[in-house]
Amino acid sequence: MQPFEYSGANGPSRVIFGQGSVSKLPDEVKRLGKSAPLLLSTPQQKEQVQALDGVLKNGSITPVGLYSNATMHTPTHITDEALQYAKDCNADCVISFGGGSTIGLGKAISIRTGLQHICIPTTYAGSKQPTRHCICMPLMILGDMTPILGETADGKKTTRSDPKILPTTTIYDVDFTMTLPESMSATSGVNAIAHAVEALYARNTNPVINLLSLDGTKALAESLPIIVNSLQDVEARSRAQYGAWLCGMVLGAVGMSLHHKLCHTLGGSFNLPHAETHTIVLPHAIAYNAPNIPETMRKLAEVLPESDGDAIKGLNVLLTKLKVKRGLKEFGMKEEDVDKAAEIAVSNPYWNPRDIEKEPLRETIRRCWAGEEAR
Ligand code: NAD
Repeated sequence: MQPFEYSGANGPSRVIFGQGSVSKLPDEVKRLGKSAPLLLSTPQQKEQVQALDGVLKNGSITPVGLYSNATMHTPTHITDEALQYAKDCNADCVISFGGGSTIGLGKAISIRTGLQHICIPTTYAGSKQPTRHCICMPLMILGDMTPILGETADGKKTTRSDPKILPTTTIYDVDFTMTLPESMSATSGVNAIAHAVEALYARNTNPVINLLSLDGTKALAESLPIIVNSLQDVEARSRAQYGAWLCGMVLGAVGMSLHHKLCHTLGGSFNLPHAETHTIVLPHAIAYNAPNIPETMRKLAEVLPESDGDAIKGLNVLLTKLKVKRGLKEFGMKEEDVDKAAEIAVSNPYWNPRDIEKEPLRETIRRCWAGEEAR
């Protein structure tokens, strides 16, 4: 076997998984020695988050406030406003309830103040978790969540990684994902798969990360098509949460390459939506790298349904079943931006299993723009 280094897939973060596991929230607050949590959500989930109020009060914990203005890409002016609110309320911990945007705000507050952070993910975008043997069996585990925080200031997004960014506790309760609409279920799930796929060929990957990546991909690739046809399927939703948790773990543990770089460039420079961009780019980025990662392609094909031994085919089949948009032009990207995107992507060298060559990369981006199938 190849020698490798392993640093634990995400430090000492605690994970509680299972349907109904939100009932453990008051105990988790007390476990941290806290009594005055501040709740965080987006404006869209302001009503849904109210459920936590009753759960906490049942356990004799009274939330000191709700900040419901969490925003995509964690703008720092929103973080400043939430910090002031947390101070005014005398909050002694934060509970984020929502997708990557709200969890990002929780991380931003926690890293600045040292306040402990409990998160309750409600999408699949890179920090989730269901149980391995599936569903309805509450499970407690150590692990999870990404130690990564992306923030936006003056229109520029920067990303940092620090073990202190990891939420102290993550509660994955499938009940809160049942309202996730079809398209967001699909795209946030593929966003999670993208983390796992790039982890398979990361320069610092290792056998443990490979296991997590493959099982996470398999769980999502099998469950997402069921979910888009049957949004209330608890078993499939739970399995997707489990997959997303594994995929979030590997994102925090090893380096990402071309796919993430492209999505960062496209999202940041052309204001394209995060999960949808990941979904469109994934098969194309993998097709670009395919000649240099035969072993990854083989392993990936094994966990993608109907791949017939071809991972690109497996990804194309998956996206077709998920009925997602396939072209960046559908989100407003202009054809002339293809050249600009290729320029930006080659201008800042980063490790990738295949050299970043402008012309083939430009063609990859063009295909993403046009919505052509990857091959
Ligand atoms: P999101 O958090 O922006 O949520 C999108 C919308 O869906 C919001 O209006 C939200 O309120 C709503 N929503 C969330 N859960 C819902 C539910 N169960 N039912 C109904 N509506 C629901 O979307 P996202 O894709 O989870 O996160 C995207 C953000 O996360 C981006 O800013 C991205 O950069 C970040 N992200 C960070 C990491 C990391 O490790 N740091 C990983 C992946 C994504």
